[in-house]
Amino acid sequence: MSEISLSDQKMATLWGFLGSSELPWIKFDKQLGKIIIVVDNHLLSTYRSCAQHYMYQAVDGYQQKPQIGTAENDRKWYLDFGIVFHKMLQTYYSEFRLPDFNLAEWAFTLGYKYWMEQNLDRYVTHPECHQMGGLKGFGGMLIQYATRFTAENERLRIIGTEIAFGKNKEVLLYVDEFVEVYLAGRLDVIVDDGFFIMPMDHKTTGSFKKDPLDRYLNDEGPTGYVFALQQILPTIIPREAILKRECTRILMNLISKQIPTDDPSNRFKRMTLYKSGSQLATYRARMIATVQNLLNDLVLYIQTGEATRDTSHCTNWFFGRCFYYDVCRQPDATGIANTLANGFVKLPIWDTENISVS
Ligand code: SF4
Repeated sequence: MSEISLSDQKMATLWGFLGSSELPWIKFDKQLGKIIIVVDNHLLSTYRSCAQHYMYQAVDGYQQKPQIGTAENDRKWYLDFGIVFHKMLQTYYSEFRLPDFNLAEWAFTLGYKYWMEQNLDRYVTHPECHQMGGLKGFGGMLIQYATRFTAENERLRIIGTEIAFGKNKEVLLYVDEFVEVYLAGRLDVIVDDGFFIMPMDHKTTGSFKKDPLDRYLNDEGPTGYVFALQQILPTIIPREAILKRECTRILMNLISKQIPTDDPSNRFKRMTLYKSGSQLATYRARMIATVQNLLNDLVLYIQTGEATRDTSHCTNWFFGRCFYYDVCRQPDATGIANTLANGFVKLPIWDTENISVS
């Protein structure tokens, strides 16, 4: 059984820090007398990639000033487009069986609204956005999607859409006398195919040059969704309804922004991933172990301003250079402070339950 354990001294350092700072993912709950941690896949995978990056981003809130062609701009395009696409499909699956569902209004009017709200036009020169055909291409992609996965074709019962979990402590990862850890996230759609109740997750990618599923077989994200669904499902539908279904799978809905030249309808792929009881148990143990390491690194950062580094990601962060590259290469603390002051702004820190923060 994985445990989180910190020395008294480390715990005192952490309490002192949390008493004077507000971070969305960790706080000291005075009433409970415990540290409450709410983590999601994005936060933990950032931490696992490089603790230094995590401290700059999720503790100090430093974000690179957006510039076209930078790694930060790339990251924001993937993130912002993903947010818009997820919103569109959540609406689709909430409404597509309603008698007055209007396909063109959904794809073009609502698509335009979400596109503008997220200000996606600022990425028109990004290669992926350009290749997709910008807003027009986005509308076409939505129509294609809805034509392929029509209400008649979808042999799925929609159980729920946009189910967020996190700070309301829906999905427990760990609890002891001093610390509680919860998983946060958002299930786009929960479906029932007659045999399985499962989350349906949408992933957009530039193209399907490689086997698209490769990317997700070992990804902690889908495993976390199955883990979460098993915990929250009894709060959504009656237990008798669940007993007749297995809840061990996730339906991956993969969408290519590029239109394949052989057959345009090949831009959509759908597959299920199975997660065994053992996989879910080891997932939980890994999350707890990661949080243990994270707390140790956080204490080090609070005490010294230093964090451990994984320099293998310096030139390989989201297909580009890590946006803290120029910070980390500075010869001394003054150089670091100057680079952070000149090239970065402090923005709200990633908060899973408010992912529209851009
Ligand atoms: S530049 Fe390298 S060491 Fe520095 S934060 Fe990025 S990945 Fe970590």
